[in-house]
Amino acid sequence: MQNLIDKLVSKRLLSKEEFLVLIEKRNADVAEYLFRQARQVREKNYGKDVYIRGLIELSNYCKNDCLYCGIRKSNAHVSRYRLDKASILDCCKRGHDLGFRTFVLQGGEDAYYNDKLMVDIISTIKKLYSDSAVTLSLGEKKKETYLAYYQAGADRYLLRHETANAEHYSLLHPKNMSSETRKKCLYDLKEIGFQVGSGFMVGSPYQTVEHLAEDLLFLSDLQPHMIGIGPFMSHHETPFADKKNGTMELTLYMLAILRIMLPGSLLPSTTALGSINDDGRVHGILAGANVVMPNLSPLDVREKYMIYDNKVSTGIEAAEYLDLLKEQMREIGYQVVVARGDFKPPVD
Ligand code: SAH
Repeated sequence: MQNLIDKLVSKRLLSKEEFLVLIEKRNADVAEYLFRQARQVREKNYGKDVYIRGLIELSNYCKNDCLYCGIRKSNAHVSRYRLDKASILDCCKRGHDLGFRTFVLQGGEDAYYNDKLMVDIISTIKKLYSDSAVTLSLGEKKKETYLAYYQAGADRYLLRHETANAEHYSLLHPKNMSSETRKKCLYDLKEIGFQVGSGFMVGSPYQTVEHLAEDLLFLSDLQPHMIGIGPFMSHHETPFADKKNGTMELTLYMLAILRIMLPGSLLPSTTALGSINDDGRVHGILAGANVVMPNLSPLDVREKYMIYDNKVSTGIEAAEYLDLLKEQMREIGYQVVVARGDFKPPVD
């Protein structure tokens, strides 16, 4: 197993069969070795710096009906909200004062935010905070729309591929969505010039180790700048209410593989990881993650953006408690920095 990991460190890729072995045959000792290698790769590329992003959850209206997601269209129990331009700008002001230099606008696919409005919001943020990056995570759009966002000044776009396997994708999504469209969006975004983020849930229903190996191969092909992964968490008002949650253990293992495979990547220690375990975010950093995205949404809407049960948005998940996060990172030898935290090509 150690030589497989060493091979991954030197080649930044393994075959599908090798990835299968690496995942299937893992144990605590192997994981410890893997995490050590991942931390080395991380430090070579990003030192001990932890980048922070202020997450603004624009809207929980969504036209999609993803089977895993708590704010899916057919969940009639969600109390729906959307933020207007003024309240989004308020969030940015608060965030900038706190030291955030990246704002992530994430939301359901909500037609209220037409191209004209988004272009206006993006260009206003960029004008007011020219030292900051804008990241969007608004789902699947036409290439022209992505281009308009980019020309308005958006820097990055997050769109998880969710699972690279088309059949598995169809088990997690309604019929009108496809893995093919998702992947096309990602290549469009890359072509336009965005720093692109993709990713997947760990332990989503029907996921096999083979699917995970395919996810790694897809990501190696896409070469995204950012990769978001977190455990699947069930939501009681979805068709997956009774499905088992993913585990922190496997999520950390996959994170470390990704750090080694894509050394320059921006890898968040995600909210889902922080939601499944109190120390999830810290463990994520120790497995090679270098980004944390505290919640900057207005307090009164936070509990409405419940994509899964028990999603945390308080304590170190909350932008207001940045000092707590800084302290936690210091305790494990890392430091939160005030910076845009852009992608850096890997150091050889
Ligand atoms: N509408 C946007 C943002 C989606 S929310 C988009 O389509 O990109 C961001 C991510 O949360 C999703 O890509 C998905 O991977 C994750 N997510 C959604 N429901 C989840 C659940 N029940 N458990 C864990 N992660 C979930």
